[in-house]
Amino acid sequence: MCYSSSVPTTKLFIDGKFVESSTSEWLDIHNPATNEVVGRVPKATQEEMLAAVDSCSRAYSSWSETSILSRQQIFLRYQQLIKDNIKELAKIITLEQGKTLADAEGDIFRGLQVVEHACSITSLMLGETLPSITKDMDTYTYRLPIGVCAGIAPFNFPAMIPLWMFPIGMVCGNTYLMKPSERVPGCTMLLAKLLQDSGAPDGTLNIIHGQHAAVNFICDHPAIKAISFVGSNQAGEYIYERGSKNGKRVHIVCYFVLYCVSQGAKNHGVVMPDANKENTINQLVGAAFGAAGQRCMALSTAIFVGESRDWLPELVERSRSLRVNAGDQPGADVGPLISPAAKARVESLIQSGVEEGAQLLLDGRKVQVKGYENGNFVGPTIIGNVSPNMTCYKEEIFGPVLIILEADSLDEAISLINSNPYGNGTAIFTTNGATARKYTHEVDVGQIGVNVPIPVPLPMFSFTGSRGSFRGDTNFYGKQGIQFYTQIKTVTSQWKAEDATLKSPAVTMPT
Ligand code: NAD
Repeated sequence: MCYSSSVPTTKLFIDGKFVESSTSEWLDIHNPATNEVVGRVPKATQEEMLAAVDSCSRAYSSWSETSILSRQQIFLRYQQLIKDNIKELAKIITLEQGKTLADAEGDIFRGLQVVEHACSITSLMLGETLPSITKDMDTYTYRLPIGVCAGIAPFNFPAMIPLWMFPIGMVCGNTYLMKPSERVPGCTMLLAKLLQDSGAPDGTLNIIHGQHAAVNFICDHPAIKAISFVGSNQAGEYIYERGSKNGKRVHIVCYFVLYCVSQGAKNHGVVMPDANKENTINQLVGAAFGAAGQRCMALSTAIFVGESRDWLPELVERSRSLRVNAGDQPGADVGPLISPAAKARVESLIQSGVEEGAQLLLDGRKVQVKGYENGNFVGPTIIGNVSPNMTCYKEEIFGPVLIILEADSLDEAISLINSNPYGNGTAIFTTNGATARKYTHEVDVGQIGVNVPIPVPLPMFSFTGSRGSFRGDTNFYGKQGIQFYTQIKTVTSQWKAEDATLKSPAVTMPT
């Protein structure tokens, strides 16, 4: 394919330098609002990927010994630089990913909060001490970094999800190899530049680009001790298995840790008849259609319990009033989907609902956006009368589509949700505390909102998920994120004031 020389190329970030790849394989980056090619991203060569991981390995010996106060200072500067550059970062996100500028700033802000949290590393990395385990003997633990870590990110949060990964890994003293989504690499590149400007030494963060070969490289390279992955179920299972099959999993205590959020997002919102109607309808509309439904925590399925089903006409009218437009246009509520393929997939899932007997209450398939006729737009869509055996319920739609189920009781709603293979997020809308308590207690989902539609935890807690939505054993950010990126060393020491010479060898286990 011929490219105009004006199409910019995404650089690799190797050993502190932004370098042009020597590869012959490139992927186009499109503006989802127009489908114009706005950049090209390389599939890094094997040599380039090796150079990146070697750089991480070399930098590790000094970075892991850098004082924790120095690391903290770098991330304190980093959070300020992210704030100073939030508009520039948001523009890149909107250009490559399509979400509205306001939503792009939200994406950055939620990642920034993780960086701010990383600045508390001097408290977060404290070990434990227990004096006088026995006479004159004390035990204490250190938290230490584990080595080179790697992150593989999806397209839907170009800032937030990479910022879940490398700042926490690095502030613990690890070096980091990042592979952003090949569809939205630009934001990660500017984040890397800002980190360098904050004083992160060369080699502490390296960035490679690509698809399967880059992912396989990360799963296989022996120097990489930990992998963070967020993305689809299919890729997540593959990465989890490939990492484990390498035998490293057997050595989990010593060498290889993998954590992974992979999810076919099917987050249910339960609407009780006693809920605050205005608030609930607004929350549902925002959580189903914001970011064009391309959030893993989008509330894509609503279960109306009892008479709350009478609110459906108002829900439809409010959804219809959202403005579909390019993300950089003033007043846009719903931007385009990431690609023509994503649009075609979403439209075919809507059609499957029609064909399987659901009722199309609002159809966004024919939406026209003036001036952006080639964009990947789908307007807000609501499918009513859905049953759990329908394809549109079973598949993750990942678009601006809200599907509606009905239940006669809270128990019926809970049982429906607990039968779903995924358990990422959910919400209940109610004014009754006992109902809310029963729900939070009985529903088997990682993140639960009570009158909060998208209950993504702030970084002092951890991002989680249950059942098919999470693999691994420690979660992202929060205390668990620190555990993931560190290993423990335990020291037991005995210092006797009097003569410590043993009279004879002690061959039995000390008690
Ligand atoms: P994706 O799985 O296609 O891509 C994620 C990363 O994996 C990318 O870097 C990509 O290059 C790589 N990849 C893709 N396919 C691969 C394969 N077959 N083998 C190896 N690597 C592969 O995900 P996406 O489309 O970029 O992001 C959207 C998906 O991510 C949705 O399914 C969404 O629910 C999920 N997601 C989940 C969460 C969560 O917290 N549970 C958060 C964000 C996104």
